[in-house]
Amino acid sequence: VIDKFKRKKGAKRETFDDFGGLGDVVARARELIEVPLQRKEELSKIGARPIKGILFTGPPGTGKTLLARIIADNTDAEFYEISGPEFLSKWYGESEEILRKIFEDAAKQERAIIFFDEIDSVAGQRDDGSHEASRRVVAQLLTLMDGFTSNRNVVVIAATNRPQDIDAALRRPGRLDWEIHFRPPDRDDREAILRSTSPPSTAPLLPHAWVAENTEGWSGAELTAIWGEAALLAAADGRSTIFVEDYVEGFQRMAARRRWVAQTSS
Ligand code: ATP
Repeated sequence: VIDKFKRKKGAKRETFDDFGGLGDVVARARELIEVPLQRKEELSKIGARPIKGILFTGPPGTGKTLLARIIADNTDAEFYEISGPEFLSKWYGESEEILRKIFEDAAKQERAIIFFDEIDSVAGQRDDGSHEASRRVVAQLLTLMDGFTSNRNVVVIAATNRPQDIDAALRRPGRLDWEIHFRPPDRDDREAILRSTSPPSTAPLLPHAWVAENTEGWSGAELTAIWGEAALLAAADGRSTIFVEDYVEGFQRMAARRRWVAQTSS
């Protein structure tokens, strides 16, 4: 069962070149995650309190999962990915046990990152008398995190777009007590994201700056979706290269899709 949560062997390795923009966020994340994993001896000799858990906050699609995965690849760390809602539903009744096994497995690795996506779905403030199952999972997570005192090879990252909803117990010292905020990409970030995610086969001189200007408020996930549309347009036209017109039309289609989502969800 644990294998289902591990990054698949042979999965495409991602590098920092695949991540666009948010340079300060990337630098801070590398410092908080790579240094503890790669310099555990030094930190241990200094006698510093180990960094056990980091909370990634920010709107959906801002690259939280992607960056965690890249850092795992870059440090040769085993990567376990747990999706909060799925963990409670699909593994109902077994989730505490599975969580324990994941931590046990992680402790055996040279280095490991345990990534908990949408932690708020499990660890929302529970004064509303919400679910017994999530209460037990949070209690288990706290126990496991408190447990790995001497173990400096495991870092837990939890992601949420609703940090205010997280159980305060999880944000205490020694738990998820470091925080990194993934802000929506600004103009330059957007241009960098478009450049770093552009498919291998595109015409030179695509109007990245123009698209970046016109995508205020878009997330990284929405920006990269432009490529999917552009690729379809090129292929439908019998070409294996994305042209400027495919890119512009792909952008317009995504813009229309965003407007539609905004209309139908308000
Ligand atoms: P959620 O909260 O919905 O899980 P997230 O913040 O974890 O969102 P990701 O799953 O990392 O977001 O991003 C979704 C996809 O969007 C990524 O797989 C990637 O293709 C693209 N993406 C997002 N941000 C960036 C970025 N800064 N650079 C390159 N690609 C990005």
